Amino acid sequence: MNTDAWDYSVFWKETISQLRQEVSEQEWVMWFNNIAYDSSNQSGIVLKVPSLFYRDQVIQRYLSLIEAKLESLSGRRLNLSFSIAQSNHKDPPPKTREPLPSAPKPKKRPHPGLKSDYVFDTFVIGENNSFAANAAYAIAKNPGTAYNPCLIYGGVGLGKTHLVQSIGNAAWAEFDNLKVAYVTAETFTNEFIEAIRDKKNHVFKNKYRNVDILLIDDIHFLQNKTENQEELFHTFNALYDANKQMVFTCDRPVSELKHLTDRLRSRFERGLNVDLQPPNFETRFAILKRKVESKNVSISDDVIELICRNVTTNVRDLEAALTKLVAYADLVNKNVTIEIAHQQLKDVFSNPKQNNITLEMIQRVVAEYFALSHNDLRGKKRTKGIAFPRQIAMYVAREITEYSTTEVGLEFGGRDHTTVMHACQRVDSRMKTDPTLEPTIQHLIRLVKEYGSKTN
Ligand code: ADP
Ligand code: MG
Repeated sequence: MNTDAWDYSVFWKETISQLRQEVSEQEWVMWFNNIAYDSSNQSGIVLKVPSLFYRDQVIQRYLSLIEAKLESLSGRRLNLSFSIAQSNHKDPPPKTREPLPSAPKPKKRPHPGLKSDYVFDTFVIGENNSFAANAAYAIAKNPGTAYNPCLIYGGVGLGKTHLVQSIGNAAWAEFDNLKVAYVTAETFTNEFIEAIRDKKNHVFKNKYRNVDILLIDDIHFLQNKTENQEELFHTFNALYDANKQMVFTCDRPVSELKHLTDRLRSRFERGLNVDLQPPNFETRFAILKRKVESKNVSISDDVIELICRNVTTNVRDLEAALTKLVAYADLVNKNVTIEIAHQQLKDVFSNPKQNNITLEMIQRVVAEYFALSHNDLRGKKRTKGIAFPRQIAMYVAREITEYSTTEVGLEFGGRDHTTVMHACQRVDSRMKTDPTLEPTIQHLIRLVKEYGSKTN
């Protein structure tokens, strides 16, 4: 068959150049940069994408848009199909020097600084994390190129450490002679302090400035630590100039970090910033189901569902509930029925996280987050730096407690209930224009709930 008879590449080129104008930079980098024209056939165009996951995402997000464009440009219906670049091992992947083996790659020893079960294979992808997971995957396959640096942010237990270590593990397995360093910001800080004390600054510098991939977890820890920020700033520049990959994680968007030097902040913001949200029910179910299978325990879908309906905060809490149940089942050597699950997890489910939250807790958490005092939020001052955080606190109060607007108003400096209503409207409308606000509020809500569960 003569496949050259069809060549629609010119339509693809035009489509992609039009799309470039229409989608945001982030979407472009994320989804279009990695699509390549492959070939044409009778029914349309074959595109090459890096993974099945990627293909599904592109189909879900953009298929109709792309096909409509192609149709208007070519005047006929062109169907899109996809080939997966990976399964097509004709070219050696970039950066590997050895000839492509026909047998599977010999297994490398595990990376000593990474947890071996924090890999992409065990990371369940859902709506809440697909953007971050896909970016992470792309980075592992091609470190130091498109998404450098990358910052993954989100609340506790949502998979930041798992993802960032997956990048390390995957790249380590894929490339020979690749230096991968994973460190928490806390360890980075401590090592730096020790290095100064022992007059071994150069050892420290060499350690982190000579790697190919630097993964730093929980950078919010660096707040207020000016000297460490300074050191990280220089490390960053050295690695950036050498096109070495950096990935950071943080418990909130960088814009919300207090006490961070502007120049470091701008470095973090320079690359791709992606967030992790709490998983929805389907994703929670998929995650727990996977855990149950991997632990090889017999827990029915009904029980999994029960847990997922009741534990909504994050993956760590989900896992904790499962662990508790499995431990009990082991101990008494019984199958876990719905009744047993109910009874054993009673405390977890009725965790008064939501119910016992007081307005004072909310004020304390929000005040701390914005580096204000508790009294600032309860007081009368209307300066901008206080007024908006106060409105956010009111909003949070209305979202997660049963207090009326009158009660909330009273606790916030004896204000009228209309002030509270106005505050909520203002936050709502700001959320529409400021994409960082909603994740911030979700983060605050989680902090309040955590605070609540600690003090109960
Ligand atoms: P964080 O660093 O954001 O606090 P972690 O990466 O430590 O969260 O994740 C908490 C736990 O939840 C870990 O055991 C991790 O393996 C698991 N986990 C988080 N997200 C997922 C996911 N999408 N699929 C499977 N396990 C997950
Ligand atoms: Mg973590």
